[in-house]
Amino acid sequence: MKVHEYQARELLENAGVPVPASKVVETVEAAVNAHEKIGRLVVVKAQVFAGGRGKAGFVKLCKTPQETEQAAGFMLSNRMVSKQTGPEGIAVKKLLVAEGVDIESEYYVGVVLDRAKGAPVMMVSREGGVEIEEVAARNPDAIVKEWFHPHLGLQNFQVAKLIGALGLTDKEQAKAAGKVLRGLAKIFITKDCSLAEINPLVRTKSGQILAIDAKMNFDDSAIFRHRDLQEMHDPSEENEAELRAKEFDLTYIALDGNIGCLVNGAGLAMSTMDIIKLHGGEPANFLDVGGSVTTEGATEAFRIILADPKVKGVLVNIFGGIAKCDTVAEALIAAAKEVGFNVPIVVRLEGTNVERARELLKEAAIKQLIPADDLTDAAKKVCAQVA
Ligand code: GDP
Ligand code: MN
Repeated sequence: MKVHEYQARELLENAGVPVPASKVVETVEAAVNAHEKIGRLVVVKAQVFAGGRGKAGFVKLCKTPQETEQAAGFMLSNRMVSKQTGPEGIAVKKLLVAEGVDIESEYYVGVVLDRAKGAPVMMVSREGGVEIEEVAARNPDAIVKEWFHPHLGLQNFQVAKLIGALGLTDKEQAKAAGKVLRGLAKIFITKDCSLAEINPLVRTKSGQILAIDAKMNFDDSAIFRHRDLQEMHDPSEENEAELRAKEFDLTYIALDGNIGCLVNGAGLAMSTMDIIKLHGGEPANFLDVGGSVTTEGATEAFRIILADPKVKGVLVNIFGGIAKCDTVAEALIAAAKEVGFNVPIVVRLEGTNVERARELLKEAAIKQLIPADDLTDAAKKVCAQVA
């Protein structure tokens, strides 16, 4: 789960990390009011689940309420297009109006889970404000890392080392930065984050250390134990198809190709995508209907997959173990009636009651349906259909 910058700032503040004062608004008038209340330089920032806002013109420094009026008007009536959004961009519904700061230096501080080492890792860089992936590609030595134990937390010597890497020699500033690093590490652990990042952390001209942008992602499997995070959830910012799938207990992941994959089981999904690629195709998504396929679930699954205009063909790969193949066939027939198949649907069924399933599909004589003998045959057929 993702949260907005203003929510991440709230979590930082609660952890003792200094953050400039700000207000969340949804209208131009409210933005202007917020500016007048702050009474000096502000920064107007689009609240969306995508970075690269600065470059896209959706982070604007405004000296006067008139400038804020203009910036807010622009952001609320234009879609933001950045490297992270895709060409269609995203609509902006909320803005953050924050106290503007005089920046002396920008730093990067982030924590992610290092799966290879099985521990969280804190990364810092003096090259803040820019995308960290860019720094990693161009100048990996500019990123200094410290792995820490999830129960023991970031140790004092590690904090000292990271602050040294940031080049913060002033005693007061080093102390303030230490508080930021400890606070961020603590949030990462206590809130079950998969990512917690401050970019940039800044040193102001007057020597203050402040977090002025934050990004946090949380482990979906741990959300149940964080009521505060549940309340922060903003479904309007999520992929609509993924949300609808969740409602029906389906797992849907959107990808870039043109072959839809309807499967039961995560492992089967992976091997289905592998074999599609082996035969020269590219998956557009995978939709895992899980162990117990129902007619309603399968119908919704087709509705979701076929709603994507990128999908030029579908591979249905079902292994009837707990789910029986004839039930799946019935679901397929119902989905064909209900949704209507507008692209070729290659079907590979294997397992319990597969003969009965084949009979049912034959009787139904669905025009777009192409039966396959086995998985290789299915992959070849669907790749040929979309080629
Ligand atoms: P992002 O582009 O989505 O990561 O948005 P950020 O909040 O990180 O803002 C992008 C850049 O705008 C920062 O790296 C800063 O250089 C600049 N910026 C943001 N807030 C302020 C501010 O209060 N004062 C000044 N001078 N620059 C700011
Ligand atoms: Mn940023």
